[in-house]
Amino acid sequence: MQLKVEGILIAKAPWRERDVRGTLLLRSGQQITAIFYGGQGGGAQQKASTLELGNMLHLEISAKGAATQDLWTAHEWKVLWASEKLRHHWPSFCLLCFYLEVLKALAPKGVWDEAWGTATQQNAATEEFKGLFTVASNAVFQIEEAHRRPQEVTGLDLNWHWAVFLGKLLFALGWAPCFGQCCFCGQALGHHPARWLAAEGGFACANCFGQNLDAATDSWHQLWPLWAKEKYPALIQMVHPLPAQGLALSEYFFYQSSLTAASLKSWPLLLAAGIGPHCRG
Ligand SMILES: [Zn+2]
Repeated sequence: MQLKVEGILIAKAPWRERDVRGTLLLRSGQQITAIFYGGQGGGAQQKASTLELGNMLHLEISAKGAATQDLWTAHEWKVLWASEKLRHHWPSFCLLCFYLEVLKALAPKGVWDEAWGTATQQNAATEEFKGLFTVASNAVFQIEEAHRRPQEVTGLDLNWHWAVFLGKLLFALGWAPCFGQCCFCGQALGHHPARWLAAEGGFACANCFGQNLDAATDSWHQLWPLWAKEKYPALIQMVHPLPAQGLALSEYFFYQSSLTAASLKSWPLLLAAGIGPHCRG
């Protein structure tokens, strides 16, 4: 059986002499791995490879062998979207690698059966992982877009992109902190000042936190709902308080996802590019 699918290339490795073993994040939020024969390009016509990380592909896949239905064969793939600028900008490419590695670690694997095939063809997502593809495609697209906008409009703040990606990812997976009420006394927070306590997984009201909350400590309480509700174009237009607590955000993410910084190959790259937890102190 052949399936028509669309997905973002989140990992790739050479396979034999001219082939590529590539992993795709499908629209369903699941991942599959396929062999792309001739995917490295070259050959008599010196074809360039179109299998760049972060590209959006349309392809037909078939199960490679009856017993190995976690490995597919890719037929007739074509590129629906490709970045042009971001892969030539080293810090942006490091951030892309971080996005893709995190998605590969978190997205569930598509396991073949007839029902899965039908659902996948229809791009149906499981409830739990519904938002994963949307978060991924928007995040990658937005770094590319940022490179295409005049510098004076937004600048290129990759720390901002990093934080928004993690914020939206945490929401998509249902792991965002509860920002509606105080995590100690349960009082509705509304627009009252609140302090984010990453270790508590929520926000504390001024009474419980026991200090006067100033605008800086309060910024997270305003950021989370924005990350959940607003799309990138609206977020970019806003005067956004930048995360002063990047370390707390990354610790919270690692705690919720059960990933560790040491397990991610892209983490040292990210730090070397000056992006991530130590931004702005
Ligand atoms: Zn309270």
